Amino acid sequence: MRAMLLIWLLLLGLMTCFNVTEARPGGGHSSSGHSSSSGSYSSPSYGSFSYNPSFSSGYNNGVSVNTNPAGLVFFLIILIIIIIILKNKTAPQPFVAAPTAINRSRQQSSLKNELDLLKQSDPNFSGILFIDFVHSLYTKFYSYSTHPEFSYLSPFLSTELQQHFEKAAPWTVNEIVINGIRWESISTQGTETESISLVIDANYTLHQQDKATRYTVTERWLFYRQKGLLSAEPDKMQTLCCPQCGAPAHFTDSGECGHCGTVINKGEKQWYLSKRVVLRTTALAASDLVSYAEEQGTQLITIKQDGLAEQMQSYIQQQSLPDWNSFWQPFADDIVKAYFLSIYEHWSQRDWQGVRHLLSDRLYEANSFWLALYAEHDWHNRLDDINISQIVPAKIELDKYYQAITVRIFASCFDYTEDANGKIIGGSKRNRRSYSEYWTFVRRTGKAAHTAPYSLTSCPQCGAPADNMGQTAECGYCGSKISTGEFSWVLFLIMQDDVYEG
Ligand SMILES: [Zn+2]
Ligand SMILES: [Zn+2]
Repeated sequence: MRAMLLIWLLLLGLMTCFNVTEARPGGGHSSSGHSSSSGSYSSPSYGSFSYNPSFSSGYNNGVSVNTNPAGLVFFLIILIIIIIILKNKTAPQPFVAAPTAINRSRQQSSLKNELDLLKQSDPNFSGILFIDFVHSLYTKFYSYSTHPEFSYLSPFLSTELQQHFEKAAPWTVNEIVINGIRWESISTQGTETESISLVIDANYTLHQQDKATRYTVTERWLFYRQKGLLSAEPDKMQTLCCPQCGAPAHFTDSGECGHCGTVINKGEKQWYLSKRVVLRTTALAASDLVSYAEEQGTQLITIKQDGLAEQMQSYIQQQSLPDWNSFWQPFADDIVKAYFLSIYEHWSQRDWQGVRHLLSDRLYEANSFWLALYAEHDWHNRLDDINISQIVPAKIELDKYYQAITVRIFASCFDYTEDANGKIIGGSKRNRRSYSEYWTFVRRTGKAAHTAPYSLTSCPQCGAPADNMGQTAECGYCGSKISTGEFSWVLFLIMQDDVYEG
């Protein structure tokens, strides 16, 4: 099994035209958030580009797949497989092994213990906010890269990384989309520092010498900060800013804030990126977006957090509710089901803006990108007759600022992609496709328990129609920023069942 996966991985590496995609915003085009991509790089979730070893038995409508078994290629593949197998025998690589349920559970529980330790010394720490910070830094790291603005980031990068692009020829990177961020480890054991390691799956377009290339990358980012710090307030974590005065990050090489003049030393007030390892880079061909992979993982049992029952208990206590059901029923109906149907309906109608206020910034941006790419080719992904069969609670995370609830949603629909002439180029109008996904909803802690039926079409702060949310989800009537979950639940993350780890 493992060898098979490796073979496919190799094939994918050799022939980058094998980008098997599932349509749907979550089915493929997104999955952002704090735990995407499995520990196994044999079946990573690259958002839209879900490399799926079983694609040949799935749909494969009209997309050219270059499976030329000519002697040389075949020989090369066999050779590389042998090399890989031998290499694996002598040098075990933790990243290639698919995690077993036991390993996964062990990993998750050690991560949870480390997170608990971190929260003991820093009660302000919030995973949701940390991910926001990483997202901002990642985007700026690439968009500034070879440009003079790169120095603005000095307090957030190690000295080595500050010089990272110094010798690079000028280029421009844009369309930076983070599809997934997975926690790898948290360490509070050092005497002077604490660290967090993440694995990030992303895509970006690099423009150099009149040539634009789209890459999909997997990177490990290692963050450090001085031990014993308290995390900054939410508004200082949600944008990249001066930890002292809150002005947008605009630092000199030596870390002096252009606004307040304070010198911010690395790790003294905020996390900084100490090391960045590129684990994988693949150039993508945008024309291969519409082949459909068979759904993976729909039959797997639901991965529930250890101690979920206790978490439910803490949650209803925090919300002063009599029992779990009095929260769960309205939440499942008015939030999960309503959001799910509305988000997919708007996706099908190519009116992503219509659900702007229901989505986190990252989810909105990532899927806007995929939608635009489809539009560019005049392709239209449709999801007809969506039916939700079951919604199961999987995880509850509570911190000082945020509540995050992850549910598994079982659904089915007719999922297909048409070209400009209405010809089906992926999926099927006749075969119903069943799937399940893990959706994580977040909301700021301390908001009143949800009671009245929730209106999806109005601003949760002022009640005006949600028709004027702009790109940033700031209500055009009251000016409130909705996508941070301050006034209502927002969808923070979509993960496929075959990569969700708990
Ligand atoms: Zn400042
Ligand atoms: Zn408003």
